[in-house]
Amino acid sequence: MDANGVSFNIEEAMKLQNSEGLSFGDLDPGPGPYDAFRFCPRCGCECLSVREQRAIRCGRCGFQFFFNTSAAAGAFVFHQDRLILCVRARDPAKGKLDLPGGFIEFNETVEDSLRREISEELNIETTNYRYLSSAPNDYLYGGVLYKVTDIFFVCDAPEIHALKAADDVADYRLVSAGDIEPEELAFNSTRLALVKLKAWLDSA
Ligand SMILES: [Zn+2]
Repeated sequence: MDANGVSFNIEEAMKLQNSEGLSFGDLDPGPGPYDAFRFCPRCGCECLSVREQRAIRCGRCGFQFFFNTSAAAGAFVFHQDRLILCVRARDPAKGKLDLPGGFIEFNETVEDSLRREISEELNIETTNYRYLSSAPNDYLYGGVLYKVTDIFFVCDAPEIHALKAADDVADYRLVSAGDIEPEELAFNSTRLALVKLKAWLDSA
């Protein structure tokens, strides 16, 4: 039973695991998006099992659904020698500092996603995108735990006269990279990216 009050039919799942020669370790995948599903969306049977930490399978009709990682992107946006950070307006991590960015939409490139998100959140245009690093992240929203791959870029904002917080951003901060305390940041993935950024700046 997890925090959402959802449980799987373990007996059914074990039978299925046995018949397919899979290890019982697969029955304990840890929290993930699969925890939000109790009934088969095709036949309604309460006999879903979690397979290899990334799919649910119905023990009655065989319906399968794979949970692939969700892709998200964030950018260290430089205006001259200062970074533009966001203050999160919503949970998770409301009030914490974060990079502008967000989830990548269908049929969108990572760079286009960042340009769009930064325009929506901060009302500025950005250029000169350079890949920095990536890291896995867990994102709990609406009682569903999304497994995310965060992709980090560095970019420039040559002009910030129109800078304004909007969308899911409550405010912004202009700071030097060296002045950012890791614990002020919303996510571990972003703290890791900050370490990468500082190494990248040192080597430049
Ligand atoms: Zn089914």
